[in-house]
Amino acid sequence: MVSMAERITPLPLTSSRADQIFPTLTSMQIERIAAHGRRRTVRSGEVLVEQGDRAIPFFVVISGELEAVRPTCATETLITVVRVGQFTGEINTLSGRRALARIRARQDGEVIQLARENVLTLVQTDAELSEILMRAFILRRVELLAQGIGDATLVGSSHSADTLRIKEFLTRNGHPYAYIDLERDADVQSLLDHFHVSVADTPVVICRGETVLRNPTNGEIANCLGFNEAVEETHVRDLVIVGAGPAGLASAVYGASEGLDVLLLETYSPGGQAGSSSRIAVSDRTRGGYQDSSARDRHRHGGQIPEAAD
Ligand SMILES: Cc1cc2nc3c(=O)[nH]c(=O)nc-3n(C[C@H](O)[C@H](O)[C@H](O)COP(=O)(O)OP(=O)(O)OC[C@H]3O[C@@H](n4cnc5c(N)ncnc54)[C@H](O)[C@@H]3O)c2cc1C
Repeated sequence: MVSMAERITPLPLTSSRADQIFPTLTSMQIERIAAHGRRRTVRSGEVLVEQGDRAIPFFVVISGELEAVRPTCATETLITVVRVGQFTGEINTLSGRRALARIRARQDGEVIQLARENVLTLVQTDAELSEILMRAFILRRVELLAQGIGDATLVGSSHSADTLRIKEFLTRNGHPYAYIDLERDADVQSLLDHFHVSVADTPVVICRGETVLRNPTNGEIANCLGFNEAVEETHVRDLVIVGAGPAGLASAVYGASEGLDVLLLETYSPGGQAGSSSRIAVSDRTRGGYQDSSARDRHRHGGQIPEAAD
């Protein structure tokens, strides 16, 4: 028997843009999505996506309700409820990384289900839906980051250089995580006891509540969280770029927009030196203002960036 979420109301958003984070699609938009997938029924309590699943399918609710929950040691936390006309997914739906949350039907109902590759096709061919989906996926990731909801928990100390290294690695890779501080959080000892680790083992990263990494390297964290699993290593590319700083990112975007099959390798995190600054001034004489080589460009053009590849 699958347990229902501990909270019966979803977590409150930190952003005021609820209509963009959880937009309700029109019937015309839903019909266009349906052309890329299949309609299916779901039963109350049915798990459609498990945390940690790869190649996450995408769902639009036709009737009934879905819920996204974060599984924890003994229970779960309700993140959000997906209602009629709304859709599931966030950045990992496009990137091919593992699911951060469990998706389950709250009631009997009907959904449209799309495989990941069909979502990629939709985003590349339907400008209006691409705008709606990309904005929602990016804003949902921002919410997960702001609320520390994901598949990783870091236990450490703000006085530890390795704790700060791991925090920076996860943050610069845009990966949401919960942080538990040895000096500040009261229930830290029970968590350490649960996973049979001591204070001397910290910093500790717990992946999906299962795997415990004691003072891991960035590469070990990337492997545990599956940062690079979506990259097919035997696939021959037109263009391989080493380094995802501004120069590498620009080359990848332009290469992919010319139809090349691009792989961008990065040892740390996208953005290079520019990623270490909270604000970068970039002069663009053709359009003016600031430009951002973001995840949006990467996924739209189909490029891939594995991280911590060393
Ligand atoms: C704090 C700060 C503020 C800045 N502010 C501005 C600003 O406001 N305006 C401005 O124009 N410029 C600014 N700069 C400079 C700007 O960030 C750099 O000029 C720019 O990042 C250089 O881009 P790049 O792609 O050539 O190299 P880098 O940014 O150095 O990127 C190289 C990338 O390659 C990766 N890499 C290296 N070796 C390997 C390997 N073997 N395998 C895989 N990956 C590898 C690195 O991890 C890195 O991500 C700033 C720099 C810093 C540090």
